[in-house]
Amino acid sequence: MPAMRVPLIAGNWKLNKTSTEAYKLVAEMLPGLRNISGVEKVLCPPFTALMAVSRLIKDTDIRLGAQNMYWEEQGAYTGEISPRMLAEFCQYVILGHSERRTYFGETNEQVNRKVRAAITHHLMPIICVGETLEENEAGRAAGVVSRQVREALLGLDILAAGRIVIAYEPVWAIGTGRAASAAGANTLIRNVIRPTLASLFGENIAQSVRVLYGGSVDPGNAGEFFRQPEIDGALVGGASLKARSFIDIVEAAQA
Ligand code: PEP
Repeated sequence: MPAMRVPLIAGNWKLNKTSTEAYKLVAEMLPGLRNISGVEKVLCPPFTALMAVSRLIKDTDIRLGAQNMYWEEQGAYTGEISPRMLAEFCQYVILGHSERRTYFGETNEQVNRKVRAAITHHLMPIICVGETLEENEAGRAAGVVSRQVREALLGLDILAAGRIVIAYEPVWAIGTGRAASAAGANTLIRNVIRPTLASLFGENIAQSVRVLYGGSVDPGNAGEFFRQPEIDGALVGGASLKARSFIDIVEAAQA
């Protein structure tokens, strides 16, 4: 019997919105989001807006996520933010986003250290994986994604594996307006991501971990992604910066 996986929509605001702007945007989203049940809603503003947003959503079922973190708890790491600091505000943290891998040189090994630190501090990691255009065209998507999943999850036990979310985000689809085909993303999740999870943690975990799609999701194409049996929601970038489009995407996940 297929596992019950509650759909999850996470908005990744990236390097956008001051704390004041974030407050305004969330205030605009709240009336619409409040009425939507059966979908987990996660907002991931920049670090500097976490406190403002957390105050605004404190009596709602909307969850808060960060976009990155360091793996150490504290110490001489100027400019970094620790899982202990985030745990005061957040339930989720996005890790291994392709922009972090591309612009900041994050490796699978670093992603793995962050994943383990997040779980230790009861933060649920949304672990991003996905192939570049070049890897895709060379027919290497399956190998690249499977390796990213395996290396991100090294050293996790079954209990920890039950607390992760994976986001399949083909790099060529992020912020380009060129989404992957829903059927293609579904196939990759079914043939690569879930079998990789099964080989590491068994079939139960493979069927219960939520796997999101990310890459140019908008209100026009969201429904088609959510109709795919293997896709449990979306990590949304650009379209999460407008109240109406984010609400419409969450509504599509409810349907
Ligand atoms: C993302 O930032 O994870 C993302 C998928 O961005 P966009 O929706 O803008 O492609």
